[in-house]
Amino acid sequence: MYTLTTQKAPQPAETLDLYLKRLRTSMKLSQHAVATAAGIHLQSLGKLERGKTNRLNQKTKKGLAVALSIPEEYLDAVASGLPVEDVQKKQFCPSCWTPGTPPNPGWTIPRAKHCLFCGSQLRSDCHKCHTPVASFAHKFCPNCGASYSQKENSHRAS
Ligand SMILES: [Zn+2]
Ligand SMILES: [Zn+2]
Repeated sequence: MYTLTTQKAPQPAETLDLYLKRLRTSMKLSQHAVATAAGIHLQSLGKLERGKTNRLNQKTKKGLAVALSIPEEYLDAVASGLPVEDVQKKQFCPSCWTPGTPPNPGWTIPRAKHCLFCGSQLRSDCHKCHTPVASFAHKFCPNCGASYSQKENSHRAS
């Protein structure tokens, strides 16, 4: 299970070298520690962090994802210069998400199926009409007007 925070996601326009270095230093790890945890050569990590190469083979990518506790998709996105939104799925937890706010990065990993906080099944569509969520900025389904939030008990009180 990942413990993801928004800081772990690549920032807009962040390049692979800066991204790797930022994650590593935020975790207070040496290059040697990360390379060992990732099972790659210290030299390979050094090259990546200096921006000498943008190429990640499967082994390197898997290893770095584990060592830095991030989904491999993040590395794919940065390495190919894509915004991380392109590799994310528009999924949310109907119990934990506050519609209209950015989703937790743990929900948007393409292979995530359940919420990492409450275990609810993640949704990518309206629970009433099943229209896919077009934007996380929406609070209500544009098609049927249903709220994306299913915190029904909290509504009853008000
Ligand atoms: Zn949840
Ligand atoms: Zn709907």
